[in-house]
Amino acid sequence: MEICVLASGSSGNCVYVEAGGTRILVDFGLSLRETETRLKGIGRSFSEITAVLCTHDHTDHCRGLASAARRHPFRLVANEGTARAVEQTARAAKASFSAPPGRWDIFESGAAFSVGALTVESFGVPHDAADTVGYVLSDGRIRLGLCTDLGMATAVIRRRLAGCDALILEFNHDVEMVRQSDRPWSLKQRILSRIGHLSNEDACDLLAELASERLQVVFPAHLSEACNTAALAERAALAALKRAGRPATRVVMTHHHQTTEVVVL
Ligand SMILES: [Zn+2]
Ligand SMILES: [Zn+2]
Repeated sequence: MEICVLASGSSGNCVYVEAGGTRILVDFGLSLRETETRLKGIGRSFSEITAVLCTHDHTDHCRGLASAARRHPFRLVANEGTARAVEQTARAAKASFSAPPGRWDIFESGAAFSVGALTVESFGVPHDAADTVGYVLSDGRIRLGLCTDLGMATAVIRRRLAGCDALILEFNHDVEMVRQSDRPWSLKQRILSRIGHLSNEDACDLLAELASERLQVVFPAHLSEACNTAALAERAALAALKRAGRPATRVVMTHHHQTTEVVVL
């Protein structure tokens, strides 16, 4: 399996995954042009993408989807709530996005299904969008868990993400930096709530629990630009791995404005 986080954070989220000749994106939060550029940067072409899996309808996860879907024939994969909300978001942005019947592949949250060579497991996540999910993608050998917008790590999330070889996990903010920021109180409340985003501290606890002997690499993701730093998130991830007794697991930091390396497992 090949994994590359093309972008991560509130300015756009997009993950490239390739296995057994199947090439997909999870989320589409960059413009089509920027996505094409970043794929080219890792030696891939957008025309090879066969499916886009949506986690939820927030703009930082679906910004470029409408224009990409008009120009390219990839499968659109989402649950019903997210599909409808993504179309609404696109219409509100005057992107005139109304997928023809059959264009969406709709799944039920909690269900498993196939996308080419990949088996996809979905699970519900507490977050303030229509019907947010996380995913575990498997090629039969490697399991990649992906969960980046979650207010809290529920028992379901912890169970579903157990036993992964790679994890893309939210390390959103440093709680003290949120409290001391000059953001409006309502926004601070939202970020810190159980349907907002996961703090470094909570992500550290979650990762320590998920770091089994299988875990080869973790990508701390969806870092807040204003209320976190790469150094703080990386320190939290390393502390979790140390606590779990997994010092050999790699930590690959993700970025808003550049892609990660392509990790091959
Ligand atoms: Zn979100
Ligand atoms: Zn987000």
